[in-house]
Amino acid sequence: RPRIGVLAVQGDVREHLAALTELGAEASTVRRPAEVDAIDGLVIPGGESTVMDKLVRAFELQAPLRARIAAGMPVYGSCAGMIMLADRIADARPDQQTLGGLDITVRRNAFGRQVDSFEQDLDFAWSDPSRAGTVHAVFIRAPWVEEAGNGVEVLARVSGGPAAGRIVAVRQGNLMATSFHPEVGADRRVHAEFVEIVRSHRQQRNVREPA
Ligand code: GLN
Repeated sequence: RPRIGVLAVQGDVREHLAALTELGAEASTVRRPAEVDAIDGLVIPGGESTVMDKLVRAFELQAPLRARIAAGMPVYGSCAGMIMLADRIADARPDQQTLGGLDITVRRNAFGRQVDSFEQDLDFAWSDPSRAGTVHAVFIRAPWVEEAGNGVEVLARVSGGPAAGRIVAVRQGNLMATSFHPEVGADRRVHAEFVEIVRSHRQQRNVREPA
């Protein structure tokens, strides 16, 4: 079973653990550097990216997480987790850092105060025909992807309203991120996409370096 950690410094940790367990992964919390070595993939939940960044650094997780990301570990970030995976923040707080890895520029709280939180059905570029149809996306003070590099695959865009067309889900190699929170509902397809990435990455690794 793929071992998938959930960064547990802040946010919807329990909901992500439950979703991953439901999909057959061995899910565990990640709070200490040693726990970073023991996983095949990581979920970074939503929360508040400035706080999460501070805690990641205080818990001495920044360097080990950056190293594993650079080595190709699959990571899925939701909302603040997307911000943590972004190489660039359009409106970063002074001193705000990210783990990086995704060649994107994100804008925090991009949808503005008047639409603090909203829900919308989106088309999603599923990798597997068994996962068809729109996804009901819940946005909570969400970021959007303002710019994406050439190597970044756009998985979903806002479907209507003033922000129509804005990019809200991306993938680049083993890194995936959504502006919305798939852990709040019962739909497990977004988590399933990620578990699939972790499984195939693990298989490839086992083929290359049998042990
Ligand atoms: N606005 C938050 C941030 O900048 C993200 C909100 C969320 O994760 N729900 O980190």
